[in-house]
Amino acid sequence: MNPTTTLPLRCWAEIDLGALERNLKRIRQELPAHIKYVAVVKADAYGHGLHQTVARLMHSGADYFAVANITEAAAVRELGPGWPILVLGPLLPDEDRHVVEYDLIPAISSAAEVERLERVAAAAGRTIQVHLKVDTGMGRAGVWHAEAPTLLSRLRASRYVALAGVFTHFSSADTDPAFTEQQRKVFLGVLAHCAVADPSRLLIHADNSAGLESFSTDSPFNAVRVGLLQFGILPYENSLLARVHPEPVFSFHTRVGLVKTVPAGTGISYGRTHVVARETRIAVLTAGYGDGIPRASSNRASVLIRGQRCPVLGRVTMDQTIVDVSGVPGVEVGEQATLVGRQGEGRISVAEFSQWGDTIPWETLTSVTKRVARIYRTGLGL
Ligand SMILES: *Cc1c(COP(=O)(O)O)cnc(C)c1O
Repeated sequence: MNPTTTLPLRCWAEIDLGALERNLKRIRQELPAHIKYVAVVKADAYGHGLHQTVARLMHSGADYFAVANITEAAAVRELGPGWPILVLGPLLPDEDRHVVEYDLIPAISSAAEVERLERVAAAAGRTIQVHLKVDTGMGRAGVWHAEAPTLLSRLRASRYVALAGVFTHFSSADTDPAFTEQQRKVFLGVLAHCAVADPSRLLIHADNSAGLESFSTDSPFNAVRVGLLQFGILPYENSLLARVHPEPVFSFHTRVGLVKTVPAGTGISYGRTHVVARETRIAVLTAGYGDGIPRASSNRASVLIRGQRCPVLGRVTMDQTIVDVSGVPGVEVGEQATLVGRQGEGRISVAEFSQWGDTIPWETLTSVTKRVARIYRTGLGL
C-alpha cells in the first residue's frame, strides 16, 4: 500500500465503490438479461485501482473481465479463481505459457498466434480457450475481416485451441455513428459467413461504452465490454447514455499550501505566462503535473474551493499549481481544493477537466500518478 497514507494527504483521489456498483446495475438494467457483462478493467481499472474495482464488480453482477495484458490478468486471477478473463492485447511469445498458468482467454488475430498457443497447450496437456478478434476497420489488433473465415477454419481444426468467442472493436463509436454501423455490418457479415452465430456456445461482442448507444437486441450479440461508463463517465457530451444516469466514481482533490497577495504586474509561475492586471489574492495548491494535472491545462483549468470556481493562473508546475482566490474571501492554508468532483454547489466533471488539458477522460484517469493516494469509499451500492 501507499506508505504515505498515514501522513496528511496533499493530493488524493476518492473512489466511490458504491457508485461503481450502482452504475453496473443500471447498465445491466438497460440490457436484456441474457447479455453478458464484460467489465473492462485494463490500466489499473482506468486508474481506479484494480483490486478494489474488480472485487466490487465481482459481487455486483459482472460476468467476465477484460484486461490489456497478462500481468493485469494475473492480478485479476489472484482475486477470483474461475472468473473468465479475456486478454485484449496481443500476447508476446514469452507470455504464451502464462495463459495456461493463469487460465486466461487470449484474443487471437493470426494463425501464428494459434500455432504458438497450440504448442503451449499440447505441452500442458490441456486446451486453451480463445476469442477471435476481427478487425472491421479499427486498424489495430484483430485479423482483417476478409481473412477471418480462413483463420476461423484454422481454429476449428485445432485440437488444442478452442474458440469461445468472436469480437470486434469500434474505432469511432463516440464520433461517427455511420462508420460504427458499417463496422457492425461487416462484423455481422463475418459471423454469417462463418455460421458462428450460435450464441449458446460463443460469446459474440462488439460494443464498448459508446457502442451501447446503438446496441441492438435483435442480433447475435450476447455480451458488451464496458469500461468508461461503469466509472460514471459518458463517452462524449450529450451521449444518449445519459439515460443510464451514471454516477461519478472518481474525484480528485488537493489542498491549499499557501495564500498570499501579489501586486499588479506580477508574473505567475514559470515563463510568466499570466501577469496579474491588479493586486490578486492567490492560493498555491499542493499538486501539479507530477500528480496528474495536465500541464496543458495551465491558464485554463479551474478548481473548486469552498464550492466556488477559482481559475488556474500561469503554468501548472510539477508539484504546485496556483489559483486566483480573489473571489473567495477567507481561504485558509490547509483547506481542500477539488480538481474533479463536487464541492457545495460546484461541480467539475472528468470530461471538463480533460478538455482543459486537451485530453480525454480515459487518459485523465490513467494519468493520475503513483504519488496520489486512492481513498476508497466502501458503502453498499444499494
Ligand atoms: C478499452 C476497451 C473497451 C472499453 O472501452 P470504453 O470506451 O472505455 O467502454 C472495450 N473493448 C476494447 C477492445 C478495449 O480496448
